[in-house]
This record gives sequence, structure tokens and C-alpha cells, in this order.
Amino acid sequence: MAKPNAEANNLTMATLSLHENPRLIGHTWATGLLQSSIAAGKVSHAYIFSGPAGVGKTRLALDFALALNCENQLAEHQLAEQHPTGQGQEAKGLWYCGECRACRLIAAGKHSDVTTISLAWQALQTENQGSANANLKIDTIRAIQAEISRPPKEVAWRVYIVQDVNTMQAAAANAFLKTLEEPPTRAILILLSDSDRTLLPTIVSRCQLIELRAVATVTIEEALKEQGASELIAHTLAALAAGRPGWALRAFQDRTHQDLNDRDEAIMQLMELLPGDRIKRMGFAEDLTKKWQEGGNKRASIQTMLNIWLGWWRDLALVRAGLLQFLTNVDKLDDLKKQAKKLTDLQIKEMLLGITRAAAQLEGNVTPRLALGDLFINKLPRI
Ligand SMILES: [Zn+2]
Repeated sequence: MAKPNAEANNLTMATLSLHENPRLIGHTWATGLLQSSIAAGKVSHAYIFSGPAGVGKTRLALDFALALNCENQLAEHQLAEQHPTGQGQEAKGLWYCGECRACRLIAAGKHSDVTTISLAWQALQTENQGSANANLKIDTIRAIQAEISRPPKEVAWRVYIVQDVNTMQAAAANAFLKTLEEPPTRAILILLSDSDRTLLPTIVSRCQLIELRAVATVTIEEALKEQGASELIAHTLAALAAGRPGWALRAFQDRTHQDLNDRDEAIMQLMELLPGDRIKRMGFAEDLTKKWQEGGNKRASIQTMLNIWLGWWRDLALVRAGLLQFLTNVDKLDDLKKQAKKLTDLQIKEMLLGITRAAAQLEGNVTPRLALGDLFINKLPRI
């Protein structure tokens, strides 16, 4: 297989994100803060954008790169005019013209001073597939270090968007720390992380932490309607998104409805397991253990399944409380009602705690055989 072009991969990743998210949804406090730092000339050399997958980290990083490097920088008073309804700095979003050469190149993922680094990028560099690329390696960090010390070719700031930072092990993380300790001029590192808690404290302390929280369901719903979603689809996907607009947009744009399929499959597995005996339940835990051992996407799919289950049991609690307006799986109301009748509040509570604990145990590398075996045998009611 011919070695793919690294630049092409960078391009694909960046344009993919722009294609999925035509604009950043929510997080106005973060865009206000970053725009203020540009206007005041007080940009940090390193940031961590943290938050769950699909919340908008990549899109925010690209917007920041655009605002930093747009050739038509606006003066402060012009910015105020661009945001006539804004109340002070926080209300102003990141501003870029979208038309100058820098804006067009960055948006197309072709700008030589804006680079996205990830496990996928690393895999293309090394031609190593599978588990060999489960972590960002020290060689990749050194490649960033060599790159970043060069001054920008074209514009104001070199921007390095680093995905998958949570996968760095000690050696790579320590190498990375060096870059953060000796920040190069006119370069910005943006680390995208699902959680800042899994990063070395020494890394976190050298970066400005921007924690992206869940976006309001109604905001996501409006964004989906803007994209042409019907009322029902917008409402369902926004509720399922759990604050992650990127997830909702991808689910809407995905013609195969992979995310909805994932949900249906996870719920079907739960339905099959509920009447099952001990042997069936242990068998399922065993299947999941094998999947878990394959690593990568398989592990992620098990965590996704648990998240979907959590949403389902939360919905069961809501149905029992009569709070139907807060349901996630609004299109499955009949099934929820039938099940809710057969369960007690205590059983539902036990399952909610059990799923949360099993997910945390898996995160801490307890095997699914133990973590899920306990959940399936001791917590999951037989109905
Ligand atoms: Zn521009």
C-alpha cells in the first residue's frame, strides 16, 4: 500500500469537522474568552479544550485558528459592531472573515501553519496499524517539537491541534512537557481531551484549561432544524445527544443512521438480557470480554453501549416519576412504559448505580467479565 500523504490526512480531518459542524454550537463563554485574549494580545501558548466527544472541541479549535490568522483582523470597536447584541466581551464570539486567503486555506485544511495531529495522523506516518497505534508515541511528540520551533511560514500563529492526548504514556507525556516548558514564540498548542483528569497534572498546569460543558438540548435542537431536520428528528436526536452537538449533527447527516442503529442495537441487547438466566448473562459478559480485549473501537463500542443503557434506565426512572418531557428515548415511549410497570424504583436506582460503576471499573481496566458480570448477575432485574 502506498504511503498516504500526511498533509492530505490533515486536510481530511479538518474539512470533515467543518463539514459536520457548519458552525460552532453553544460555548459562547469560551469563544468570548478566546476572542478577548486575541483582542488584548494575551493569547496563551497552550490550551486544553476538554469535554466529551462531539461537544465541539475540534470545531472550537478550528474557529480559534481562523480568528488568530484571519488577514482581516477587526479593531475592537468594529468587533462590537459585528456583535450588536453582545453585552461585553463574553458575548462576542470568535470572529473571522471567512473569505481571505488564510480563512479559506484553514477551512479547507490546507494551511501550512495549522496542523492537526492525532492517532490517525500518526498511523499514516508510521504505517503501523492496530494496537501499535493505540497511543501517541514519543516520536510523534518529537516530530511536533521539531516542527513547532520554526516560525510561521505565512501568518501570525502556527496552530497545532493535538487530538487523542489522553493516550500518551509517561515517556511521550514527559517529552511533551518539555515543549510546554519552553514555549516557542508565535506557536499555539491546543490539546483536545475527553477529560483533563486523565492528563498529567504537570501538563494541565502549563495549559489554559477550557472545559466545554454539555450544550443545552434546545440549542442543539435549533441547530438540527437549521440543518433541515424535522421537528421529531431534531427533538429525538437533541435529547439523545446528551449535550453533544457534534454527535447530533453527525447522527443527522449520517445517512445510514449509525448512531441510531447503535442505540437500537444496545437496547435490543438489553431486552434480550432482561429475561435471560445466569448462563445467558455470563455468556454475554464473556462475549464483551473478548471484544474488550481486541481494544480500540471495540472498547469504545462497549462504553457507548453502557452510556445508552444508562440513558434507558434514566428514562425508566423518568417514566415512573411521570416526567415524560425529559425523556431521551422519546420514540420508544411504549416500550419504556411497559417495562417501567414491571420494575421498582429501587431496581432502577440499583441499575443506574451499577452501570455507572461498571463503566468506571472498565475505565480503570477491570475486565468486563468482572465488571459486567456483577452488573448482569447482581443488579440487572429478571423480567
Ligand atoms: Zn479571514
